[in-house]
Parts: sequence; C-alpha cells; structure tokens
Amino acid sequence: MKTQVAIVGGGPGGSTAAMFLAREGIQSVIIEKETFPRYHIGESMSGECGAILRRLGLGDEMLKRGHPIKRGLTVYGTNGKNAWYIPVKGRDENWKLFDQYTWQVRRSDFDKMMLNEAVARGAVVVPGRAAKPLLNEDGSVRGVQVHMEDGGVQDIESELLLDCSGQATFLANAGVTGPKFRGSYDKQIAIFSHVSGAIRQEAPESGNTLIFYKGKYHWAWFIPIDDEIVSVGVVTSAAYFLGTGEDKKDFLIRELRELNPELSQRLPEINLVEDVHVIPNYSYQVQRFTGRGFVCVGDAHRFVDPIFSFGLFVSMREAELLAPVIKAYLSGTGRDAENPFADYQLHTEKGIDILEDLIDTFWENPVAFSVFTHRRYTEQIYDIFAGRLYEHQPSEAILACRKLLKRERLYGAQDEYSVPIGSRFHAERAPIWNNEATVSNTELWMNS
Ligand SMILES: Cc1cc2nc3c(=O)[nH]c(=O)nc-3n(C[C@H](O)[C@H](O)[C@H](O)COP(=O)(O)OP(=O)(O)OC[C@H]3O[C@@H](n4cnc5c(N)ncnc54)[C@H](O)[C@@H]3O)c2cc1C
Repeated sequence: MKTQVAIVGGGPGGSTAAMFLAREGIQSVIIEKETFPRYHIGESMSGECGAILRRLGLGDEMLKRGHPIKRGLTVYGTNGKNAWYIPVKGRDENWKLFDQYTWQVRRSDFDKMMLNEAVARGAVVVPGRAAKPLLNEDGSVRGVQVHMEDGGVQDIESELLLDCSGQATFLANAGVTGPKFRGSYDKQIAIFSHVSGAIRQEAPESGNTLIFYKGKYHWAWFIPIDDEIVSVGVVTSAAYFLGTGEDKKDFLIRELRELNPELSQRLPEINLVEDVHVIPNYSYQVQRFTGRGFVCVGDAHRFVDPIFSFGLFVSMREAELLAPVIKAYLSGTGRDAENPFADYQLHTEKGIDILEDLIDTFWENPVAFSVFTHRRYTEQIYDIFAGRLYEHQPSEAILACRKLLKRERLYGAQDEYSVPIGSRFHAERAPIWNNEATVSNTELWMNS
C-alpha cells in the first residue's frame, strides 16, 4: 500500500493531522491498533483547543453532542484554602481578550467522532499495530510495517510518516529519533476513574475543571464529562502510592475522601462507574523528533505534566501547524535538507518549553506564581493557560518564570536547544530507551 502521509495513531493528534492534511489536498492513511470507542485519559480542553475544533468546522457538532462547557478552572489550595480561578479567554484580531469557552470530553466519544470525521474527509484507517518503521539505507524513513488486526502483515510506503502514537512513542522506541529523556515529573503516578453523583459547581460554571492541591506534586482533578459523570484522578509520587500498600482502587477512594475538604464535600458518595486506571512515568522529552521522512506529533515526543490540561491542545495544534509544512515538503521544499522539518521542530519545542516553565514555576515557587497570575502578568498567564504559546512569546511572564527558575533557554543548534530539564530523581539526565519504566511494572502489579 502507498500513501503520501502515513499516520501512526488515530487519537486526537492523528485525526487532527489527517483533517488538516485533507484541507491541503493531501492523502493520508491512519494506522490504529485499538477498536474505537475505547477509554482514554485527557478529558479537559484548553481554550485554544476549542478554537482548533471551531477552525475544523466542528464547533456546532461539539455543542450538539452536549459536551460540558468549560469556562475556566479553579485551583483549591491545601485544606481548601486560597482558591484561585483562571477563566478561558480568547484574543480577537486586535489582541484584545474576550470571554470564551471550550469543552470537556469523554474521550471514547470524542476520539471516535474525530476519527470518523477524518475518514469522512478522505483519510483511510488501517486497523492494526504499527510494528516497525521502514527505513532506507541512509536511515531516512520510507514507511511503516503494520501487523494487521486480522493477523496479516502489511507494508505501507509513505513520503512522510507521522508518529501520533501518544505515550507509546513509537519512533523514539524504534531508535529513529534522538534520545528520550525523563522529564521532571517522572516517578509521578496518576490514578483515576469516573464517578456519578458528584456535586459540581452551579450553572453556568457547572462544566468547569476543579483542581485540588494537597501538597507539592500531590493533587487531584475533577472534570465533568457529561451531565452525570465526572472524571476524577489523583496525582502523586509513585513512592507515596507504593508506601501506602493499598491497591489502586482503595488508594483512589481514600485519597478522594481525604485529599482536600473541598473535594470530599463534592463526593458525598464515591460511585465509581469506570475501571480504576493507572499511568506512571508520564513525563519525558524526545530529542530530534523530526527528520528525513518522519515527524513526531504531541505526546509522541514530549509530555510534561497533566496539571493544567495542555496535552490535547499540544497534539492537535502541532498537527495543525504541520499541515502547511507538509504541503511545502511534498512539493519539494527542503527535500534534500538534513532535516526538512528543523524549523517546525524548533517552533513547536519552544511552545512546550513555555508550558514547562509555567508548570515548573507553579510547583517550585507557588507564591511567585500567584503574584504573577493575580497581580503582575494576569493577561499573559491567561494566554498561556489558553494555549497561546506560539505568538507574542516568550512574554514578560515567561521571562520572569525563567529568571526565578534560573533557567536559560538557548535556541542554537539542534541538540542544544530545549535541553531536557531531566528528572529531579535522576541527576545524571541519562536518556531512556524502550520505554524502560522508572517504577517497575511488578511493583505496580503487586499494588493493583
Ligand atoms: C494523568 C493524565 C491526565 C491527563 N489529562 C489531560 C487533560 O485533562 N486534558 C488534556 O488536554 N490532556 C490531558 N492529558 C494528556 C492527553 O491524554 C494527551 O496529551 C493526549 O491524549 C495526546 O493525544 P495524542 O493523539 O497525541 O495521543 P493519544 O491520545 O494517546 O493517541 C494515540 C493513539 O495511538 C494509538 N497507537 C499507539 N501506538 C500505536 C501503534 N504502534 N500502532 C497503531 N496505533 C498506535 C493508540 O491506540 C492511540 O489511539 C493527560 C495525561 C495524563 C497522563
């Protein structure tokens, strides 16, 4: 089978890429190993994520489907004190802020809608697991080998391979990219499920995200995903979880009761209506994630921390930004360059650096973060929360964060820019390969 662009992964990154490519008149094939609908984490959108859906012409469909409207997020401090609120704000053509809303989604429904929409716009879905990239003698990528759902093997030849495989980091694991480094939030663990009967905020705020802080690196989320169900999750260090000796379900239920009084009063009873899921070691960064014949999008090359719900936006925005770059590439631009996607890589990496600097400031220096957010740089912080990472950046707010973090971002040669911050648990900053776990799966299994 031959295609212009082969896409590994039919999650939001892959479907969005296919839709923006279709707009450019470019044909794509999506390889997806799961049968949709399937459960997935990542249910709250940033403001600019909603804007991408509107640009795709899906705003009315989102409203019709009744996804909860998110107008902002509230963070409750330890013991429910010192709550603060960030509204969802857009920017108009004169760069003036205006009130905006975005959506919360049940990912099984949303991902299926997106994949179906990509197919309706011309993408072809191949059900199967991308097993290995196909390489030319010079190491450039020329396609992907797929182990089909029906047991067969199929080679898909492509002019370009997009890795939208999410945390599976397909091309990094295959050694096609540069090394994969642990991020500063590795050794964190997220344990989560869905509940019914939770008490949400009053309308029109009833769809908003609530975040509950317990202590450093220890927090919970509350995200309404339809009229009845709320997604809840606890994030903490894996060592703390293992130290309790509890299984994941008991741990989640106890934490939801004890973590923060503002959370427990919203859960008079804890009725879990979904399995309890666990994700450890979600924080990493892959270097050289673009090259000859390939580009990694979103989680397939970097994920920092889920605290302020940036993941969906980053994957979908990178996919959107990539479409015109691919169009130029397919018509010959940069074909013979050492890395035809070097500019795109730098541009998108700079965007995630901004998120990382904001998140690190929140964790490392909450008092300064609060001053920046509420007094000094309020509008600029609204911009970052919405996902305006690629324009008017780095803002004064981000430069102040960097100063506080004693962090210089130098954007020089490929291997020098966006130097991975590395893990606070692994001072040596050694790369990891083959998704080597930092918390052993046996430990997790024993506790599950
Ligand atoms: C605890 C936690 C909470 C989060 N909460 C939020 C949130 O509230 N809001 C938010 O925006 N983000 C959140 N995220 C991040 C969000 O889940 C991801 O950023 C988002 O799903 C990335 O989309 P994607 O399309 O890049 O990857 P994915 O959604 O992971 O999709 C990848 C797809 O690729 C397929 N695939 C993988 N490997 C292969 C293969 N070899 N062959 C074929 N198919 C393959 C998978 O089956 C999957 O369907 C959270 C993350 C974590 C860890």
